[in-house]
Amino acid sequence: MGRAGSAVEAGAGREASPPSYTRLDADVPVLYAPRLAGKAKELSDYLARGYRTLGQILSVDPPPIIAYIVADEDWEKAPRDNERPYPRGLPYFTRSVEPPALVLPEELSTVFRPRTAATLPLTIWHELAHAFLLGREVVRTPAWFGEFVAQAASAAVACRIGPPLEEHLSRIDKEAGFTVQNFRGPAGAEDQMSFQNLLLGFGAAALEEFGEGFLPSIFHALWEEDEVVDGERAEELLRDALGPGGREWLESRPEFQEDPL
Ligand SMILES: [Zn+2]
Repeated sequence: MGRAGSAVEAGAGREASPPSYTRLDADVPVLYAPRLAGKAKELSDYLARGYRTLGQILSVDPPPIIAYIVADEDWEKAPRDNERPYPRGLPYFTRSVEPPALVLPEELSTVFRPRTAATLPLTIWHELAHAFLLGREVVRTPAWFGEFVAQAASAAVACRIGPPLEEHLSRIDKEAGFTVQNFRGPAGAEDQMSFQNLLLGFGAAALEEFGEGFLPSIFHALWEEDEVVDGERAEELLRDALGPGGREWLESRPEFQEDPL
C-alpha cells in the first residue's frame, strides 16, 4: 500500500528474483515462476494497459519498473523494503531493487472485497499509481491522501479502458463506520479494506463530478512540495486540484465528515 520514503534504499541494485524465474518482455517486464505462465500473461496485459493509460492520464513519461509474479512457495524470497515478509496475497510496490518492482502474489488475498471482474485490475492499477507517484521524489503525506490518490487513479484507468465500475462500487459496504478524517491506522485487514473501498468510492465520485484532470494536478503538486504534507495541506491540495466548486463538494461528501453520517 503506500510507503513514501527515500529514493535510495539499502538494497538498490541487487538482483532479487529467484533464479528460476522466467522473463516476459513488455512495457512492464514481468518475472514469473515458470508454473504461473498463464497468470503472467493475464497480469502482463493489465500492467501494460494500466501503464500506458496512467502515463496518458497523468501526462508523464512512465517510470521504469518491473513486476514479479511470485509463487506462494517463494513469497518470503520476494524483494521488499523491510526485513520481515509482508502478509501473503497482498500486492505491493518496492524500491529495494532496481528498477523498482511491483510484487504480485499468484492469488489475491481473500481480504480483497468485493470480488468482481474489476477487483484484480483495480488492485494492480492501484500499485502502479504508487509506482508512478514514487517515480520522483515525494514528501510524506497523510496515509489517507496517498491511498486516495492511488484509488482515484486506478478508478480513472477503469473509466478509460474498463471494466465498468458500477457493479463493483454498488457492492461496497457503505457502513464503514469511519470517514477519511477519523480513520486511524494501523488497523486489521478488514478495516484496511473498508478504508480502501471508502477511498475508491470517494475517488470515483470525484471523477464523475470533476473529470480526471484533478489527478495530474495532484501528482504534479506533490512532486513540487518540499515540506511534509499534513492533513490540512492535503485537503488544500485536493481542493485546489478539484478546482471551482471543490471546497463545497468536499464539504458535502459523507467520506469527508468529522464523524460517520
Ligand atoms: Zn496503496
